[in-house]
Amino acid sequence: MQGGLHMERQYDLVIIGAGPAGLSAALYGSRAGLKTLILENGAPGGKLIKTNKISNYPGVKEIEGTQLAMDMFDQATSFQAEYAYGDVNKIDENKDVYLSDGSVVNGKAIILATGTKERLLNIPGEKENLGHGVSFCAVCDGAFFRDKDVVVIGGGNSALEESIYLAGLARSVTIVIRRDVFRAEEHIQSQIEENEKIRVIKKHIPVQILSLEGKVSGIELENVDTHETQIVECSGIFPYVGQDPNTDCVQGLGVLNERGYVLVDANCQTKIPGIYAAGDVIDKELRQVVTACNDGAIAAQHAFHTIKGI
Ligand code: NAP
Repeated sequence: MQGGLHMERQYDLVIIGAGPAGLSAALYGSRAGLKTLILENGAPGGKLIKTNKISNYPGVKEIEGTQLAMDMFDQATSFQAEYAYGDVNKIDENKDVYLSDGSVVNGKAIILATGTKERLLNIPGEKENLGHGVSFCAVCDGAFFRDKDVVVIGGGNSALEESIYLAGLARSVTIVIRRDVFRAEEHIQSQIEENEKIRVIKKHIPVQILSLEGKVSGIELENVDTHETQIVECSGIFPYVGQDPNTDCVQGLGVLNERGYVLVDANCQTKIPGIYAAGDVIDKELRQVVTACNDGAIAAQHAFHTIKGI
C-alpha cells in the first residue's frame, strides 16, 4: 500500500513509527479526539515482533512479543487512528513530513517514534552471509537452526535473552563477549549459567565470518589480551551488539545529541514546538517497552493540550 494514495494532507497528529511508543501515542491521541496518522515502513510492533517473550510489562506476566504487538496495534487503531505504510525521508520545522513516494503530510504535532536499528559487527563475511546464517532476529530465524550450533555476539539483555530462546532450538549456543563481564541484568545472567546448552567465551571479539558453499560455517575470534585467534564452527551467527537510533529524517533540525539520539524535555517535546519524540529513539537511560509506552502517552497528551489550547 502506498501511503500517499490514501492519506490526507493535514492531520492533528502524525506519528512516525508503530512500535510500543508510536502505538501508545496513537492510542492516547486518537482517544482524545485528535485526527491521527501513524506512518510505518515495516510491520507494526517495532522490536516487539523480534522478541520472543516479554515478561516485564506490568500486568502481563508473560506474553509473546508478536502477540503484544498485535494487541497494541488493535487497541491503537480502535479509536480511528489511521495507519499507513510510509517511508519518511524528512521532517521540517513546519511539521511537514516528506515521504519517499513523493507525498507530503502535515501534522499540527509530529511524534517521532522510529526506535533503533541493530548495530553491525562490520567484519568480513557479515553482509555477504546475511540470510545465509547471519541473522539479527532469533525469533524470526531461530527455527532454521534446530539442532545446529549457533554463536551469539554480545553480552547485553538482547544477546542473553535471545540466547535462551535459541537454546530451546539449537544443539548449542556459544555467547562471545569482549569483556569478562556481561552488560545484561543479573537475573538473565543466572539463567545463562544454568542452561547446559549455553557456553560463554569471554574476552574475545569476532574478526571474520567464514562460509562454505554460500552458508555460514564458522566464526574467527580474537583474544583481546593475547591476540591469539580461534575458529568456532557454527551454522548460525546472531550479532546483538547494540543499537543505533533511526534519526536520518530529522538530521537537519538540530535536535540530536552527539550519538544521534533525540533530545526532549519532560513532555517528550524537542526544542521545536510541536515536534516530539518517544521511545528508544530519545536520549534516555532505560529502554523498555514500558518506558516507550510512557513516552508515547506523554507526548500525545501534551500535543493534545497544545493543539486544543487547554
Ligand atoms: P547493549 O545493552 O548496548 O549491549 C550491547 C552488547 O554488545 C554489550 O555486551 C557490548 O559489550 C557488546 N558489543 C558492542 N559492540 C561490540 C562489538 N563491536 N563487538 C563485540 N561486542 C560488542 O545492547 P542491547 O542488548 O541491544 O540492548 C539495548 C537496550 O535495550 C538496552 O538499554 C537494554 O537494556 C534494552 N533491552 C532490555 C531488555 C529487557 O529489559 N528485557 C531486552 C532487550 C534490550 P560491552 O558490554 O563490552 O560494551
